[in-house]
Amino acid sequence: AAEEGFDLDEVAGDIEAAGHGPLPVLAVVGRPNVGKSTLVNRIIGRREAVVEDRPGVTRDRVTYEANWNGRRFKIVDTGGWEQDVLGIDASVAAQAEFAIEAADAVVLVVDATVGATDTDEAVVKLLRRAGKPVVLAANKVDGPSGEADAAALWNLGLGEPFPVSSLHGRGTGDLLDAIMEALPEAPAMTFGEAAAGPRRIALIGRPNVGKSSLLNKVAGSDRVVVDELAGTTRDPVDELIELGGITWKFIDTAGIRRRVHLTEGADYYASLRTAAALEKAEVAVILIDASETLAEQDTRIITMAVEAGRAVVIAYNKWDLLDEERRYYLEREIERDLVQVQWAPRVNVSARTGRHMEKLVPAIETALAGWETRVPTGRLNAFLGELVAAHPHPLRGGKQPRILFGTQAGTRPPRFVLFASGFLEAGYRRFIERRLREEFGFEGTPIQVSVRVRE
Ligand code: GDP
Ligand code: GDP
Repeated sequence: AAEEGFDLDEVAGDIEAAGHGPLPVLAVVGRPNVGKSTLVNRIIGRREAVVEDRPGVTRDRVTYEANWNGRRFKIVDTGGWEQDVLGIDASVAAQAEFAIEAADAVVLVVDATVGATDTDEAVVKLLRRAGKPVVLAANKVDGPSGEADAAALWNLGLGEPFPVSSLHGRGTGDLLDAIMEALPEAPAMTFGEAAAGPRRIALIGRPNVGKSSLLNKVAGSDRVVVDELAGTTRDPVDELIELGGITWKFIDTAGIRRRVHLTEGADYYASLRTAAALEKAEVAVILIDASETLAEQDTRIITMAVEAGRAVVIAYNKWDLLDEERRYYLEREIERDLVQVQWAPRVNVSARTGRHMEKLVPAIETALAGWETRVPTGRLNAFLGELVAAHPHPLRGGKQPRILFGTQAGTRPPRFVLFASGFLEAGYRRFIERRLREEFGFEGTPIQVSVRVRE
């Protein structure tokens, strides 16, 4: 029975959906202006381009959740990535690289009215080498007369071109069916120890903070050969490393070890790799050089991890270089600049001397535990009831919005849905989030609180 008009079925759907582990990832690649963003918006059911582009490295957000016939997957839109920095060919190659590393399947979008260009052919070569399933979308086929243009794309050697009009929706159902065939089923995962395979760590941070030094230190001679472990996918860029008696999967260690000599676009590539590693990881260990002032790039990497919804550990490296004065300023910096991840466990380490390496694993475990915390609905509502009674929402235009009911719709990271009788002010939402953290922990994890207003 719907209590005070709640749509419990809807909530139940969320909860059911949240019971699964990582979703399969679909990347959409192609030249500029072929219609990638239009297609992505069509698939996720949104009309306008949802993303604001920031000039420079990558757009802030590239991943959306989508659903076709009840199957959920993630879709990565590479369309807004800055082309000016690199030129079209390099930009498209970078998209392909990202897709190859982070995606389970790829949609290559080609403008059927233009036909296959050299750039399209170069991308096909890259994709084919990687062996990922590719679905070819022949876009801008707005009517039957365009079908012949689409058929011409058989020449790309990717199999059947699917004629679609992303703009009008023509043919996108067939395309989605083909995509569903290419995507693996979302692996059903249980929580905690029973999760399939080793926990996945992305060791990230801007260049020279000491990522490869740390990796070499922790890996030592305990490196495990990937093939020997049952049930793990073979991915040569990842590495299994034993720490504190537990085997962890470090994502994209090749990218960490590889010394990049690119000058132009190096930041851009580094950002792509970071985004790709975050896609695959459960927890991000973000390395920061404690001996230097926090850089904008550090903050950006932190934001990427938080927005990707990953568990987060902050590791201050090069602790051996700190003197009294720097330590004083560092404390101030942490208070001022790391507010967005106040909740993240921090470890102060030195990859050079090995200082506090043993603290890394407990911090990672804490963060993962917070990330998987589930609060039973009864307990949550008892807490919300008391909270709202003690701290009602401020009056607004003579009315007082009330929180009626709440539920945790998901974990990894924790997601809450609050039903309220009116719009809740941002300040009040932050207050709720703070109190949720005080009450239930959530150390090391972002939490998401969304509000649905029942009029
Ligand atoms: P992106 O750069 O690949 O992300 O391309 P956009 O999605 O921004 O689309 C580029 C242009 O092509 C826009 O003006 C779209 O409106 C247009 N476009 C996209 N899909 C279609 C389509 O199916 N038919 C037609 N006629 N135009 C389209
Ligand atoms: P990456 O680019 O993040 O992989 O950084 P590297 O591991 O290549 O390290 C960059 C530089 O910092 C190298 O010269 C390292 O020797 C040095 N370094 C790394 N960790 C430490 C540390 O804990 N203390 C000190 N003093 N230097 C370090």
